[in-house]
Amino acid sequence: MSDALMPVYNRAPVVFDRGKGSWLYTAEGTEYLDCVAGIATNGLGHAHPALVAALTEQAGKIWHLSNVFRVPGQELLADKLTAASFADIVFFGNSGSEAIECAIKAARRYHSSRGAPERIDIIGFSGSFHGRTYGAINASGNPTYLEGFGPRLPGFVQLSPDDVEAIRAAIYAPTAAALIVEPVQGEGGARALSGEWLRQVRDWCTDAGILLIHDEIQSGMGRTGKLFAHQWFDGCAPDIMAVAKALGGGFPVGACLATKEAAAAMTFGAHGSTFGGNPLAMAVANTAFALIADEATLANVRTVAERLSNGLAAIAERYPDIVVDVRGKGLLIGVKMVTNNREFMAAAREQLLLVAGGGENCVRLLPPLNFSAAEADEALRRFEATCAAVRATLA
Ligand SMILES: *Cc1c(COP(=O)(O)O)cnc(C)c1O
Repeated sequence: MSDALMPVYNRAPVVFDRGKGSWLYTAEGTEYLDCVAGIATNGLGHAHPALVAALTEQAGKIWHLSNVFRVPGQELLADKLTAASFADIVFFGNSGSEAIECAIKAARRYHSSRGAPERIDIIGFSGSFHGRTYGAINASGNPTYLEGFGPRLPGFVQLSPDDVEAIRAAIYAPTAAALIVEPVQGEGGARALSGEWLRQVRDWCTDAGILLIHDEIQSGMGRTGKLFAHQWFDGCAPDIMAVAKALGGGFPVGACLATKEAAAAMTFGAHGSTFGGNPLAMAVANTAFALIADEATLANVRTVAERLSNGLAAIAERYPDIVVDVRGKGLLIGVKMVTNNREFMAAAREQLLLVAGGGENCVRLLPPLNFSAAEADEALRRFEATCAAVRATLA
């Protein structure tokens, strides 16, 4: 392994050469079942023929233009995203963190433009993850991401999702600008918030005149079996929403969606991006959107997720010494371990099964949205074999 990479990742000692659907292959031909999917990003699996065709066709035409020109693919995708959600307006960036930056900037500028520049507080939650830019680490609920990077930026409030009274007080504070929440926490360990919680917070934000931001970077784009996770519940749609990960089916792209009112202050010159919404990203994302928003895909997520979750719950019963809890929503599944989650991930690799890590000692299963029932059964077999192997190592 080269020493020339900044060692900010603890990389698994395996090199993949190609992928197809839910499977990854080494150059030697060893076949791994992929329940990581680029951390919920390759929503349609690897090398989906329609995405490959969209990318290669666009690659022969125009890669990059700049947003000083019209990019028809952006107009198409923005129309689709707004037609399928609460939103009226979209800004395209290249990543989740950039979508979050746009959301935070839009929220603060909204109040500033309405004569309340003192409203800067972004209310976030413990266990949340919003990305790695300077703004995003301040909004995130994991203090280790801030270590050594200087003081916390002003105007970021951190609360527990269980502290309802503190949440209410923060929302009604005269300095509040917005509340940011993942309807299903991803990196934090697949914690799904209830419809009741989301609706209560929605109502308070509306009443207090502050904006509600949903971070659906991981939970959106079909991951939970609805196009966006908050759509499981009535009456809790946000004012602003960050989307990325599966939006490009594995090609880097992110989007900040907003209502016309919430985005009203994002006028000419207020924001921008060189690469955001480039023609390559738009070609792939438009194709991915059509496939992911297809009701057949979303229905598959719901049925396969149930099969997988039920199977994992049964394994948890057989291995109470290894697994304590199975949680999450749709194909954003968290399995809370008794034993060390990192060691479990390595043991799963021995069984040719790839799973992701997560907070609270979870491993996450985030397979592609077109995961088949047979693949789910195979994942369960390999997961149980991993439990047996881990049990064998316990004294
Ligand atoms: C991955 C993720 C981000 C950050 O996205 P990047 O593309 O890595 O910048 C933000 N929020 C959530 C919920 C995520 O899962």
